[in-house]
Amino acid sequence: MTHPRPGYPAPQRLPATRAPYVPVPGPGHVPAQGPVPGQGHPVPPPAVYASPAVSPAHPRSAVELQSTAEPIQAEAFDLPRPALVAEDEAVRISVDNNRCHIYGICQQEAPEIFRISEGGSLHYTRGVPAEFAAQARQAVRCCPMQAIQIRGGAGPGPKADRAHPRRSGKASRAGRRRVVVAGAGLAGLSAATRLRERGFDGELVLVGEEPHRPYSRPPLSKQYLSGALSDEQLTFRADEGLDAHWLLDTPITGLDIHGSAIELRGGERLPFDGLVIATGVDAKRLPEAPVFSDRVRTIRTLGDAAAIHRAMRTAQARHVVILGGGFVGCELACTAREHGMDVTLVVHSAPLLRRVLGERVGSVVAGIQRRAGVDVRLGTQITDWRDHGDMLRLRLDDGDVLDCDFVVLGLGSHPRTEWLRGSGLDVSDGVLCGPTCHAVDGWGRVMPHIVAAGDVARWPNARFDSQPRRVEHLIHAVEMGQHAADALLRGPDRAARFAPVPRFWSEQHGTRIQAAGIPSLGTDVEIVEGSLRAERFVARYSRRTPYGPQTVAAVAFDMPVELLAYRDQIGRSLPRTRGAGRRKRR
Ligand SMILES: Cc1cc2nc3c(=O)[nH]c(=O)nc-3n(C[C@H](O)[C@H](O)[C@H](O)COP(=O)(O)OP(=O)(O)OC[C@H]3O[C@@H](n4cnc5c(N)ncnc54)[C@H](O)[C@@H]3O)c2cc1C
Ligand code: SF4
Repeated sequence: MTHPRPGYPAPQRLPATRAPYVPVPGPGHVPAQGPVPGQGHPVPPPAVYASPAVSPAHPRSAVELQSTAEPIQAEAFDLPRPALVAEDEAVRISVDNNRCHIYGICQQEAPEIFRISEGGSLHYTRGVPAEFAAQARQAVRCCPMQAIQIRGGAGPGPKADRAHPRRSGKASRAGRRRVVVAGAGLAGLSAATRLRERGFDGELVLVGEEPHRPYSRPPLSKQYLSGALSDEQLTFRADEGLDAHWLLDTPITGLDIHGSAIELRGGERLPFDGLVIATGVDAKRLPEAPVFSDRVRTIRTLGDAAAIHRAMRTAQARHVVILGGGFVGCELACTAREHGMDVTLVVHSAPLLRRVLGERVGSVVAGIQRRAGVDVRLGTQITDWRDHGDMLRLRLDDGDVLDCDFVVLGLGSHPRTEWLRGSGLDVSDGVLCGPTCHAVDGWGRVMPHIVAAGDVARWPNARFDSQPRRVEHLIHAVEMGQHAADALLRGPDRAARFAPVPRFWSEQHGTRIQAAGIPSLGTDVEIVEGSLRAERFVARYSRRTPYGPQTVAAVAFDMPVELLAYRDQIGRSLPRTRGAGRRKRR
């Protein structure tokens, strides 16, 4: 038996004005889709996007949801007052040179304000006119180093200096609507901030299992490990002035959809009117690796990174093996090399980063790693693990033996949906959402009061096709959090589709890689600027569609300015024209 958390009033319910859930035939259904803004053609609506494997498996929730659920309606969130952040007021910005790492994300978000020169330094306009203030704010949110400060305009909360109790106290907000954000990471913070910016003046509760406020994860494999940034410097500043209750160190254990409540550790229930699911992902582990050994590490949280930081600084630590060749593993290899360690990168597939960047571009990264002294072992895996106390002995399938001080697993991630099992939501590979970010249950029915965002969310990006996918990038967490908040306020019928151009970056031994779009969708890769040999180029990824060739991604190595032009093409199908031959490959 569970009881409401003391101090949390039951949420106010408005009378339902239409049927709570829209039943659809079959296991999944996508609402009719019009053209994506800025694109040349409508994307054909898919027939099914719920995963068939889960559809008929939850008869209990099917009946209950249809008969008893009482979700809030879009109208329930009608905004009581204008936006709290005036994005049309002039602002002043400054950049902390000690933090800025010239990633150039600010330039992508606000090209009118930030520019990276040929020489690689950042130039920006301090006094930002009102028309570019929104761009400037977005750059602040997306800078992984939290290097940009902004002044002017209003803050993101009604009372910027309000003290925030770690746990909420009296039920001072009785009768007000409550939005719960499950997962106090970047996507959750972004959604919460957007709710306030849009004028939501109900109760906002962020629940996270980590003891920290949301922090920037990208520096965990880079500047935090190298000691250039401390843990306090990773904390996002966006929550300054956010009028919210923070339930930190509080794992969520369940979701009761038809009772509109989440369950917390210890059995407490927290009712909600609207829910944002943003519980992210966790690092994958390997069953055959020694489970309790201090010498086998993953890197997802500040705690993980702190442990690796300590391991690297242990007096005798000389050799680290990184298992898995994703971006995080490769970045870790860079940091460990800079620290003077011997690094072996063991990757099951070949070439490096083939799945993400394709064979030719991935090979360039392998070359960069090898030149920096990383021992890159491709197409191999560990078959035997021995913890000898003072070192780990690993046997590879080609017979080689590696003795090392510790291993870091960089094997990808799995979505944090264990708390949603049995809830009725479709959680096969993340929380399945419709095009508007509203969650979908095992029968493909849209939940009007539940949205998802960030690494945990799987949704069909109509810019590309109808296939639901997860995207695990920082800028994506910011944008999807914002969109999910808007969608929650507007409701599934009025919300826009979320159809962004995903963007990410990485740094490999000083080479800055920036990408826009989804390179893995490309069937053709052409070098459209620079050259592979010089390791300075822009690669364009495209595929054929019934409407003509479509640019699906562009990846730039040390060419951040040049990338901008290609970014704007992504997702468009270009009508075939006679004589429009492909540019010569170099
Ligand atoms: C080492 C590292 C390097 C990276 N580098 C880059 C990079 O260079 N470029 C890039 O674009 N992206 C990078 N990323 C990815 C980027 O950081 C993520 O995409 C982003 O943090 C996703 O934000 P999120 O809010 O969706 O998830 P998270 O940041 O993971 O937040 C989710 C939160 O929910 C909490 N949670 C989970 N389950 C529960 C539960 N049951 N109850 C309560 N709380 C729960 C988690 O503890 C976590 O705090 C990197 C990530 C890592 C780990
Ligand atoms: S986004 Fe990159 S270049 Fe821009 S301020 Fe932040 S660290 Fe510097």
